[in-house]
Order: sequence, then structure tokens, then C-alpha cells
Amino acid sequence: MGLLYLGTPLQWEEARQYADHVRQHGINQFLHIWDEVRNRHGDELLWGDELEYMVVVLDKEEKNAKLSLRQTEILAKLSKVVSDLTDDGTDSPPIATFHPEYGRYMLESTPGAPYTGSIPDLLSVESNMHYRRLLARKHLKENEIPITFTSFPRLGAPGVFTEPYYSPDDAKSSHSLFLPEEITNPHARFPTLTANIRTRRGSKVAINLPIFVDEKTPRPFVDPTIPWQRDIYPEDKEAKNGAALVDHIYLDAMGFGMGCCCLQLTFQSCNVEEARRMYDALIPIGPIMLALTAASPAWRGYLADVDCRWNVIAGSVDDRTPEERGLKPLEANRFRIPKSRYDSVDLYLSNEWINKPEYNDTDVPYDAHIYSRLADHGIDDRLAKHISHLFIRDPLVVFSETINQDDKTSNDHFENIQSTNWQTLRFKPPPPGSPIGWRVEFRSMEVQMTDFENAAFSVFIVLLSRAILSFNLNFYIPISKVDDNMARAQKRNAAREGSFYFRRNVLPPGHTSPTPSGSSCSSSGSSSPVEETNGVKPIKEKKLRNCFASLPKPSWLEDKLPEEEYEEMTVNEIINGKGEYPGLISLVKSYLETLDIDAADRVRIDQYVDLVRRRANGSLQTPATWIRNFIRAHPDYKSDSVVSQEINYDLMIAVDQLERGILRAPELLPEDYSPEVPKWRGVNGH
Ligand code: ADP
Ligand code: MG
Ligand code: MG
Ligand code: MG
Ligand code: MG
Ligand code: MG
Repeated sequence: MGLLYLGTPLQWEEARQYADHVRQHGINQFLHIWDEVRNRHGDELLWGDELEYMVVVLDKEEKNAKLSLRQTEILAKLSKVVSDLTDDGTDSPPIATFHPEYGRYMLESTPGAPYTGSIPDLLSVESNMHYRRLLARKHLKENEIPITFTSFPRLGAPGVFTEPYYSPDDAKSSHSLFLPEEITNPHARFPTLTANIRTRRGSKVAINLPIFVDEKTPRPFVDPTIPWQRDIYPEDKEAKNGAALVDHIYLDAMGFGMGCCCLQLTFQSCNVEEARRMYDALIPIGPIMLALTAASPAWRGYLADVDCRWNVIAGSVDDRTPEERGLKPLEANRFRIPKSRYDSVDLYLSNEWINKPEYNDTDVPYDAHIYSRLADHGIDDRLAKHISHLFIRDPLVVFSETINQDDKTSNDHFENIQSTNWQTLRFKPPPPGSPIGWRVEFRSMEVQMTDFENAAFSVFIVLLSRAILSFNLNFYIPISKVDDNMARAQKRNAAREGSFYFRRNVLPPGHTSPTPSGSSCSSSGSSSPVEETNGVKPIKEKKLRNCFASLPKPSWLEDKLPEEEYEEMTVNEIINGKGEYPGLISLVKSYLETLDIDAADRVRIDQYVDLVRRRANGSLQTPATWIRNFIRAHPDYKSDSVVSQEINYDLMIAVDQLERGILRAPELLPEDYSPEVPKWRGVNGH
């Protein structure tokens, strides 16, 4: 989450009156930023992860694992601890930072400062993650644990799932049948966001996950835990009037989605063109990594027939009116909008020749007036479409104190719209007047239960991003196929059984093996890139870099139709290769060969890459499969899809023990897994 302003948020009826104002000034702000940074060039690779945690209370007597609602206290404590540790007479940056998140049981942490492209930085990721976790753990209560777990299996189930207990009858923002008001971060922004989405939409959000049908699951499955007859809020009757589907797990509030945890990565690019290229290249990778990191099979006390959170979050913030959703003719609204504001990317953005116009093949409404303002300012068609598409949305939270801003120095109105478009990738312009460059955020992955896994997926994506630039890789497929892949990625066991559209030939025209391109920028100050010319021995890089040159369009090009360029592959084939197509691992390994890495460091990096390889080939399970199997094998499981309080309790203990290396799970983690011991201050009694 971005900065939290203290202020008075407007309720929807009032906030909506400022929608055009926010859009208009948001675009002014973007244009100021554009003028300031469009030619910015030479920013080095900086990058960082975001990890989200749930704080769980283990209640031994009740045999119940509950969500701890002490976020505010915990964050206050952690920020004091971090600032005391940082304030050591040196000017070194903090090692960690902690942030609030939507759920009042959630924490987010990032490294205290972004990583550079150095190999030591790459290798400190896991221990930094572990340090952050230990710092959190050390400052929790004895019976509280910080878990990196995507969806809490009994969030919204009958009985007590928070500490302290609150009744859902008081859910004045969401009007949920299942989640109390107190599940949400108390900062005014969050309850307002929740209420304004519901009000704008004209009903509660409604998500239906197919139930996992086990041997004794009643059919048809009509959920006995829904309070069908409750009559407190006007929306209470929605469930029985069709919002809750038979054979599905029905979820009716923002907290079910935004209360999930994930793993995100942000990369700084050399310049705006490189950022656009990186953004595009990672779009088709998003669903593949979602399938590989799948970690959320259980919802509201039931096993679902899906393994991932994505559609739950998409549905949980779907503020589109019935007109926008195509259920009624357009009258009050301007657009039919095919997708929620939380969904996969709608448009490729790069101006490079490899981005054929045909790849943007879906219906993407955009604001024509905003488009012309951007175009009149000299912004190219693709970027203008991207921004004017984001700006079809209304701002959801408007603070009365910040309605009038200086558009030359603020990006607040721009960010209001930008940061409530939650897509699989986010293209992040620099904040005005800051040293930060153009960035791209990769957002699809589910958080993993151990920091070894979280580090492995982070390192893998960082390396893949460098391979993309170094070898001029081309992953383009039509965006409609990426959308299809998003749906496929979430199905149960997609990492093993799913098939996905993927590009066959990812190398530049005329290449049969990955070949590093020359450097286009000398910002890094390191040695020149590997160039295999005239038999001269290539010089290896000492660090990961950005600023690679792209290939000029060859004069002769075999022009294929987009549908001839891709085929259906399994995740294993996409990751480990198929025929002529080398696989992502082999591309990453080729890139590693261009680096000057110590043997011991290479062993560590290979362990990370190997986790990805083994997940893909099925020799290791996804977290979702492991969690599902744990639940189904539990003595209290009655083969009826129900995740009881006792199963959940034992699962949470197992997850914690797994992370600490006490419980061995060779089906999930490599045989020699042990949590890395961080060498930093503030943990282990130092
Ligand atoms: P948000 O919640 O808006 O996505 P956060 O501030 O929580 O963003 O996290 C952003 C991540 O980007 C952090 O890991 C941080 O270390 C990293 N980061 C910070 N500055 C840069 C930069 N200049 N380039 C790349 N990454 C950065
Ligand atoms: Mg977050
Ligand atoms: Mg964040
Ligand atoms: Mg954020
Ligand atoms: Mg210091
Ligand atoms: Mg983020």
C-alpha cells in the first residue's frame, strides 16, 4: 500500500462529484512528470520485493488458530525497533521496513532500501527476508506467529477466527454476512474504500469459487454456513436472491480478496523504453508464475476447486455498476468495462517493432478526451491508450483535505487512479522531483510459506528480467491468450495438468541460441557485455545490469500470423523447454553464464533456479497441492470439503514448523532445506 494520508475521506455520493476533477488533475500531474522524466536515462538496476504476512494466534486450549487484529500495535512496535536499529551513528539505511495492509491481521515488509544488481545483493535476499520475519516474530506475543500464507482457510467461517472476536453483524462498511468490520485496517482509507466500492457497484461484491467435490461432499452443495435469513443490511437478501451459487463457496466482501497475501517485485529500468519493454515481456510470464506459486486452495472453511487467489481479489474490488458490467443498457455510465479494476494487464505498451499491433486484441475502453489530451501533448498512441484506459475508472477514496493540489509537485491524483488499477504488472512512472526512475512491478505471484521459496522466485524473476534484456527475448502472444492463461492458471493443479498458450520462438530472428546484445548505455560503470565477436574471449559481467540495446528490425522477416507464433504448452514445457523452444530455465542459465560469479555463489543461485525447475516438472509440489493434501489427510477431515477449526489449527502449526525447518516436507522443499540464518543486527539477541 502506498502512503496513508490522515484526512477525511468522502463517502461515495460526495466523492463521485470529484471524479472528473481527480482525473483532470491526475492527467495534469502525469504530464508534468512526463515532461520532467521522459528523457531520463541511465538509471541503474535497483529492485526490491514486497512480502505480506498474516499474524496468527495459536490458541492451545481451544485448538483454534485465529487472526490477530493487533496490526496497529505491532507496526508501531516494529517501526520503533527498526528506527532504533538504524539510528546507530552510521548513515546506513534501515535493513527492513514494515507497512500496513488491508487486513488488520496483515503486515507487509520490504527491504529497507532497494537492492542493486550486485551478486552479493542477489544472495542477500533470502537472509534479508528471513531477518524481516525474525524481527516480526521477535516482537509478537508468545502465542503469535507471522506466516506468509496466501489465503487464511477459515476467514469468514462460522465460529471464532479473529482474536479478539467480533461479530459480522457490525460490518458497516462491507455489509458482509461473514466478515466483521474489525477485519479491516482501521485507517479511514480502508473502510471507505470498502464502502465506496459497494455503493458504486450498487450491491455487495459477489465471488463464487467452485467447491472441491470430495467423496462425501453433499451434492448439490448448498452451503449451510451462509446465514441465508439474516436481515440487518439491505444487501442481506442478495445471497438467497441468486448471488450465492449452488456448488460454490460464496464470498461477499473486499476482505476476502484484499485480505490475501502475495509476493511482489519492483524493478527500476534504465529509461522509459526499457521499462515498457520489460512490462510487456513479463505480461505473458504473469499467469505462468501464478500457476507455479499457487498457494490458496481453502476459503471460508472449505476446500475449493481452485488453487489461487487472483479471481477472488479481482471480484472483491469489482466496483463496476450493472451498466458497466453489461447487465443493463448504458445510461448513467460512460463505458461497458469487460474487467474488474483488479485483473490481468489489458494492453502491451512497448513501441519496439516486436510488439505487433495485433497482440492488443481485446476490447479495451479508454477515455477519448484524456487520450486526446495525452496525444496533443506528444505522447504516443500506446502510452496514451494505457493511461486513458486506466483513467476510465473513478477515484474511490477522495480526502477532503487533498482535493486541491499543486499539479507540478504532487502526483497524488494521478496515483489515486493508477494505484487502484491493480493489474498483473504495474508501470510506475517516477514520482515528481525524486531520484527514483521508471519502474515495473510484477504482481501475480502468491506468497510462499518459506523465505527460501520467496527468495527463489524473486531471484528467478530478477534473472529472467535480465535474460529478457540481454538476449532480446520475445514472449509476445495476443493479450486475449494471456487472459485465457490467467483463468487456466488458477484451476486446481494447473502447474501439473494445465496447458497454457506460449510463444514458440522466443529468440530474435535468425538466432538459434541466446546471444547477448551490446550495451546501449554506460551508466553501470562495469565491464562491457559479453560479445562473441571475432573469437575474442567474452568479458564477464560482475553484476546484473539493465540498459541493453534492442535489436534493430531485420530487413527480411518471415511474417507469421500471431496464431502461428504460439502453441499450448504445459508449465513444465514453458519452464524446462520443449523441442526447439529452450525453456525459461535454460534462458536464465545462459544469462548466468555471462556473469562472473564465484562457484559457491553459483551453487546458491542454482538452488533457487532448481526449485523453479522442480516445481515445474512436478518433482516438488506447489504450496496449494501440499496444503490441500495436508487437509485431506488430516484425521479430522471427513472427505466433505470442510476445513474444520482443528484442521486449520494443525495446518497453521505445520506451516510454522515447515518454515523453521522443524517439519520436513521433501515433497514440497528440497531435502536439504533449512532456513537461512541472517547475519544482521536485532535478531538472535544482538
Ligand atoms: P507499492 O506498495 O507501491 O507497490 P512498496 O513501496 O511497498 O511499493 O515497495 C516497492 C518495492 O520497490 C520495495 O521492495 C522497494 O525496496 C523497491 N524499490 C524502492 N525504490 C526502488 C527503485 N528506485 N527501483 C526499484 N525498486 C525500488
Ligand atoms: Mg502489499
Ligand atoms: Mg507495498
Ligand atoms: Mg501499494
Ligand atoms: Mg544507520
Ligand atoms: Mg506493490
